[in-house]
This record gives sequence, C-alpha cells and structure tokens, in this order.
Amino acid sequence: MAIEYVCRWCGFILYSGDRLKSTEDVAKYWGGRCPRCLSPISKVPQRIEVAAIEKPIKAASP
Ligand SMILES: [Zn+2]
Repeated sequence: MAIEYVCRWCGFILYSGDRLKSTEDVAKYWGGRCPRCLSPISKVPQRIEVAAIEKPIKAASP
C-alpha cells in the first residue's frame, strides 16, 4: 500500500511513499504551499491511498 498526497488544485504529488504522514508534515515540508501552483496545502489536502502495484507472483503456481 502506498500513500500519496496530491495537490487538489494542480495534481502535484506532494508526498508519495508507504509511510503514513500527517497532512501537517507534508505541508511543513513544502513550506505550507504547493511548489507548483502555490496553493496552501494545509487547508484541504487530498489524500489518496494507492494499492500496491501488482507484482508478478512467483511462488503461486500449483
Ligand atoms: Zn498545486
């Protein structure tokens, strides 16, 4: 499971990783603003939880 925080205004990926971060942490990291569109991050960040990318299963064959 990966977590992505995406700017709701421009779609810039503010954070992407498998560790849960608070929106505050993400906002602080960027100085409170989206680096692309300069919209404030802290107000209404959009959190997207992305399921892990499917990997080829090696050991599943009967
Ligand atoms: Zn933005």
